Amino acid sequence: MPTVQTTSIPGDLPRTFASRKELERLLVEEFPSAEGSLSPIRGGRQAAEAKLSQVNPARYAKSRNHLKGAVTGLSPYIRHGVLTLAEVRDAVFQRIRNRNDGSKLINELGWRDFWQRMWLDLGEGIHDDQEEPKTGHAASSYAKELPADVRDGTTGLACMDGFRDELVSTGWLHNHARMWMAAWLVHWRRVHWKAGADWFLEHLIDGDPASNHLSWQWVASTFSHKPYFFNRDNLVRYGGTRHCDDCSSVHRCPFDGSYEQLEGQLFAPMPAIRSTGNGRNRRDGRPGNSSVNRGRSGASAALARPKR
Ligand SMILES: Cc1cc2nc3c(=O)[nH]c(=O)nc-3n(C[C@H](O)[C@H](O)[C@H](O)COP(=O)(O)OP(=O)(O)OC[C@H]3O[C@@H](n4cnc5c(N)ncnc54)[C@H](O)[C@@H]3O)c2cc1C
Repeated sequence: MPTVQTTSIPGDLPRTFASRKELERLLVEEFPSAEGSLSPIRGGRQAAEAKLSQVNPARYAKSRNHLKGAVTGLSPYIRHGVLTLAEVRDAVFQRIRNRNDGSKLINELGWRDFWQRMWLDLGEGIHDDQEEPKTGHAASSYAKELPADVRDGTTGLACMDGFRDELVSTGWLHNHARMWMAAWLVHWRRVHWKAGADWFLEHLIDGDPASNHLSWQWVASTFSHKPYFFNRDNLVRYGGTRHCDDCSSVHRCPFDGSYEQLEGQLFAPMPAIRSTGNGRNRRDGRPGNSSVNRGRSGASAALARPKR
């Protein structure tokens, strides 16, 4: 048994440990079937404040889409209430000289707030397709289960297997990696977004039903006016070539091609529904009124994220 200090609440787990190793040992004992090991992300207010002090809004704005960009890493602390959104906002305002320097980061904090409000509005509805997918494929044609090779990280795609390893071992992924994984699973592997979203929540330390499920639906196009997808150029531009360099599938990369080519491969032709603004042929990212919206209170694709 690890030598740990116990709290005074009967039956409660210890809160103070002599080392991270002891914490890890206790977790293995208490949760023997859990996958992975202790995340390197440290919890607590002290760690949160240390991260907050490193936030650089101007660098964030310039680099946030890059895997190595100056993202804040604050999501676990925000998710668990260690930091409030208002606190992060105030820290941003204190650190900027002009409004533009802070607007990108403030915008993203706004998305967190938006998804929370959508959750309040939709309730358990966030677990259901908000609209029909705009992929030309019936919702029922998507596999319900997460494929074993995805869960195990043995797909042979170095990028996706690498993201999977990072997800399982650290409990955190960069936003772009989340978007790529979600798009690949839904559009290339044709797995229903819910299987992927539930799997993410098994591992994410910042796992939040609203941000997670509604982002998956945004990618899948059940909560946006068109599916999000990407190509290899995009992956390399923001992720570098480190995955491709070691990839056994590099000469049959499913992401190779122009957006037009991939769109033709992945999606079935859909009639343009000009009167509703639905369909992939709308490129302006502006909201339209969806005729297939099943959400309540205007929770439609019209409100979903703009094009990136
Ligand atoms: C498929 C998918 C699943 C996701 N699941 C979650 C989840 O379970 N929990 C979660 O907190 N975020 C989720 N996100 C949103 C986003 O990826 C993470 O919030 C972000 O990557 C966390 O890293 P960061 O703190 O460095 O973010 P930064 O880019 O530094 O942003 C600062 C803060 O703003 C908020 N934020 C940033 N981007 C988003 C966004 N796109 N949507 C909502 N809030 C955002 C977060 O609170 C974040 O901590 C998901 C995105 C996608 C595409």
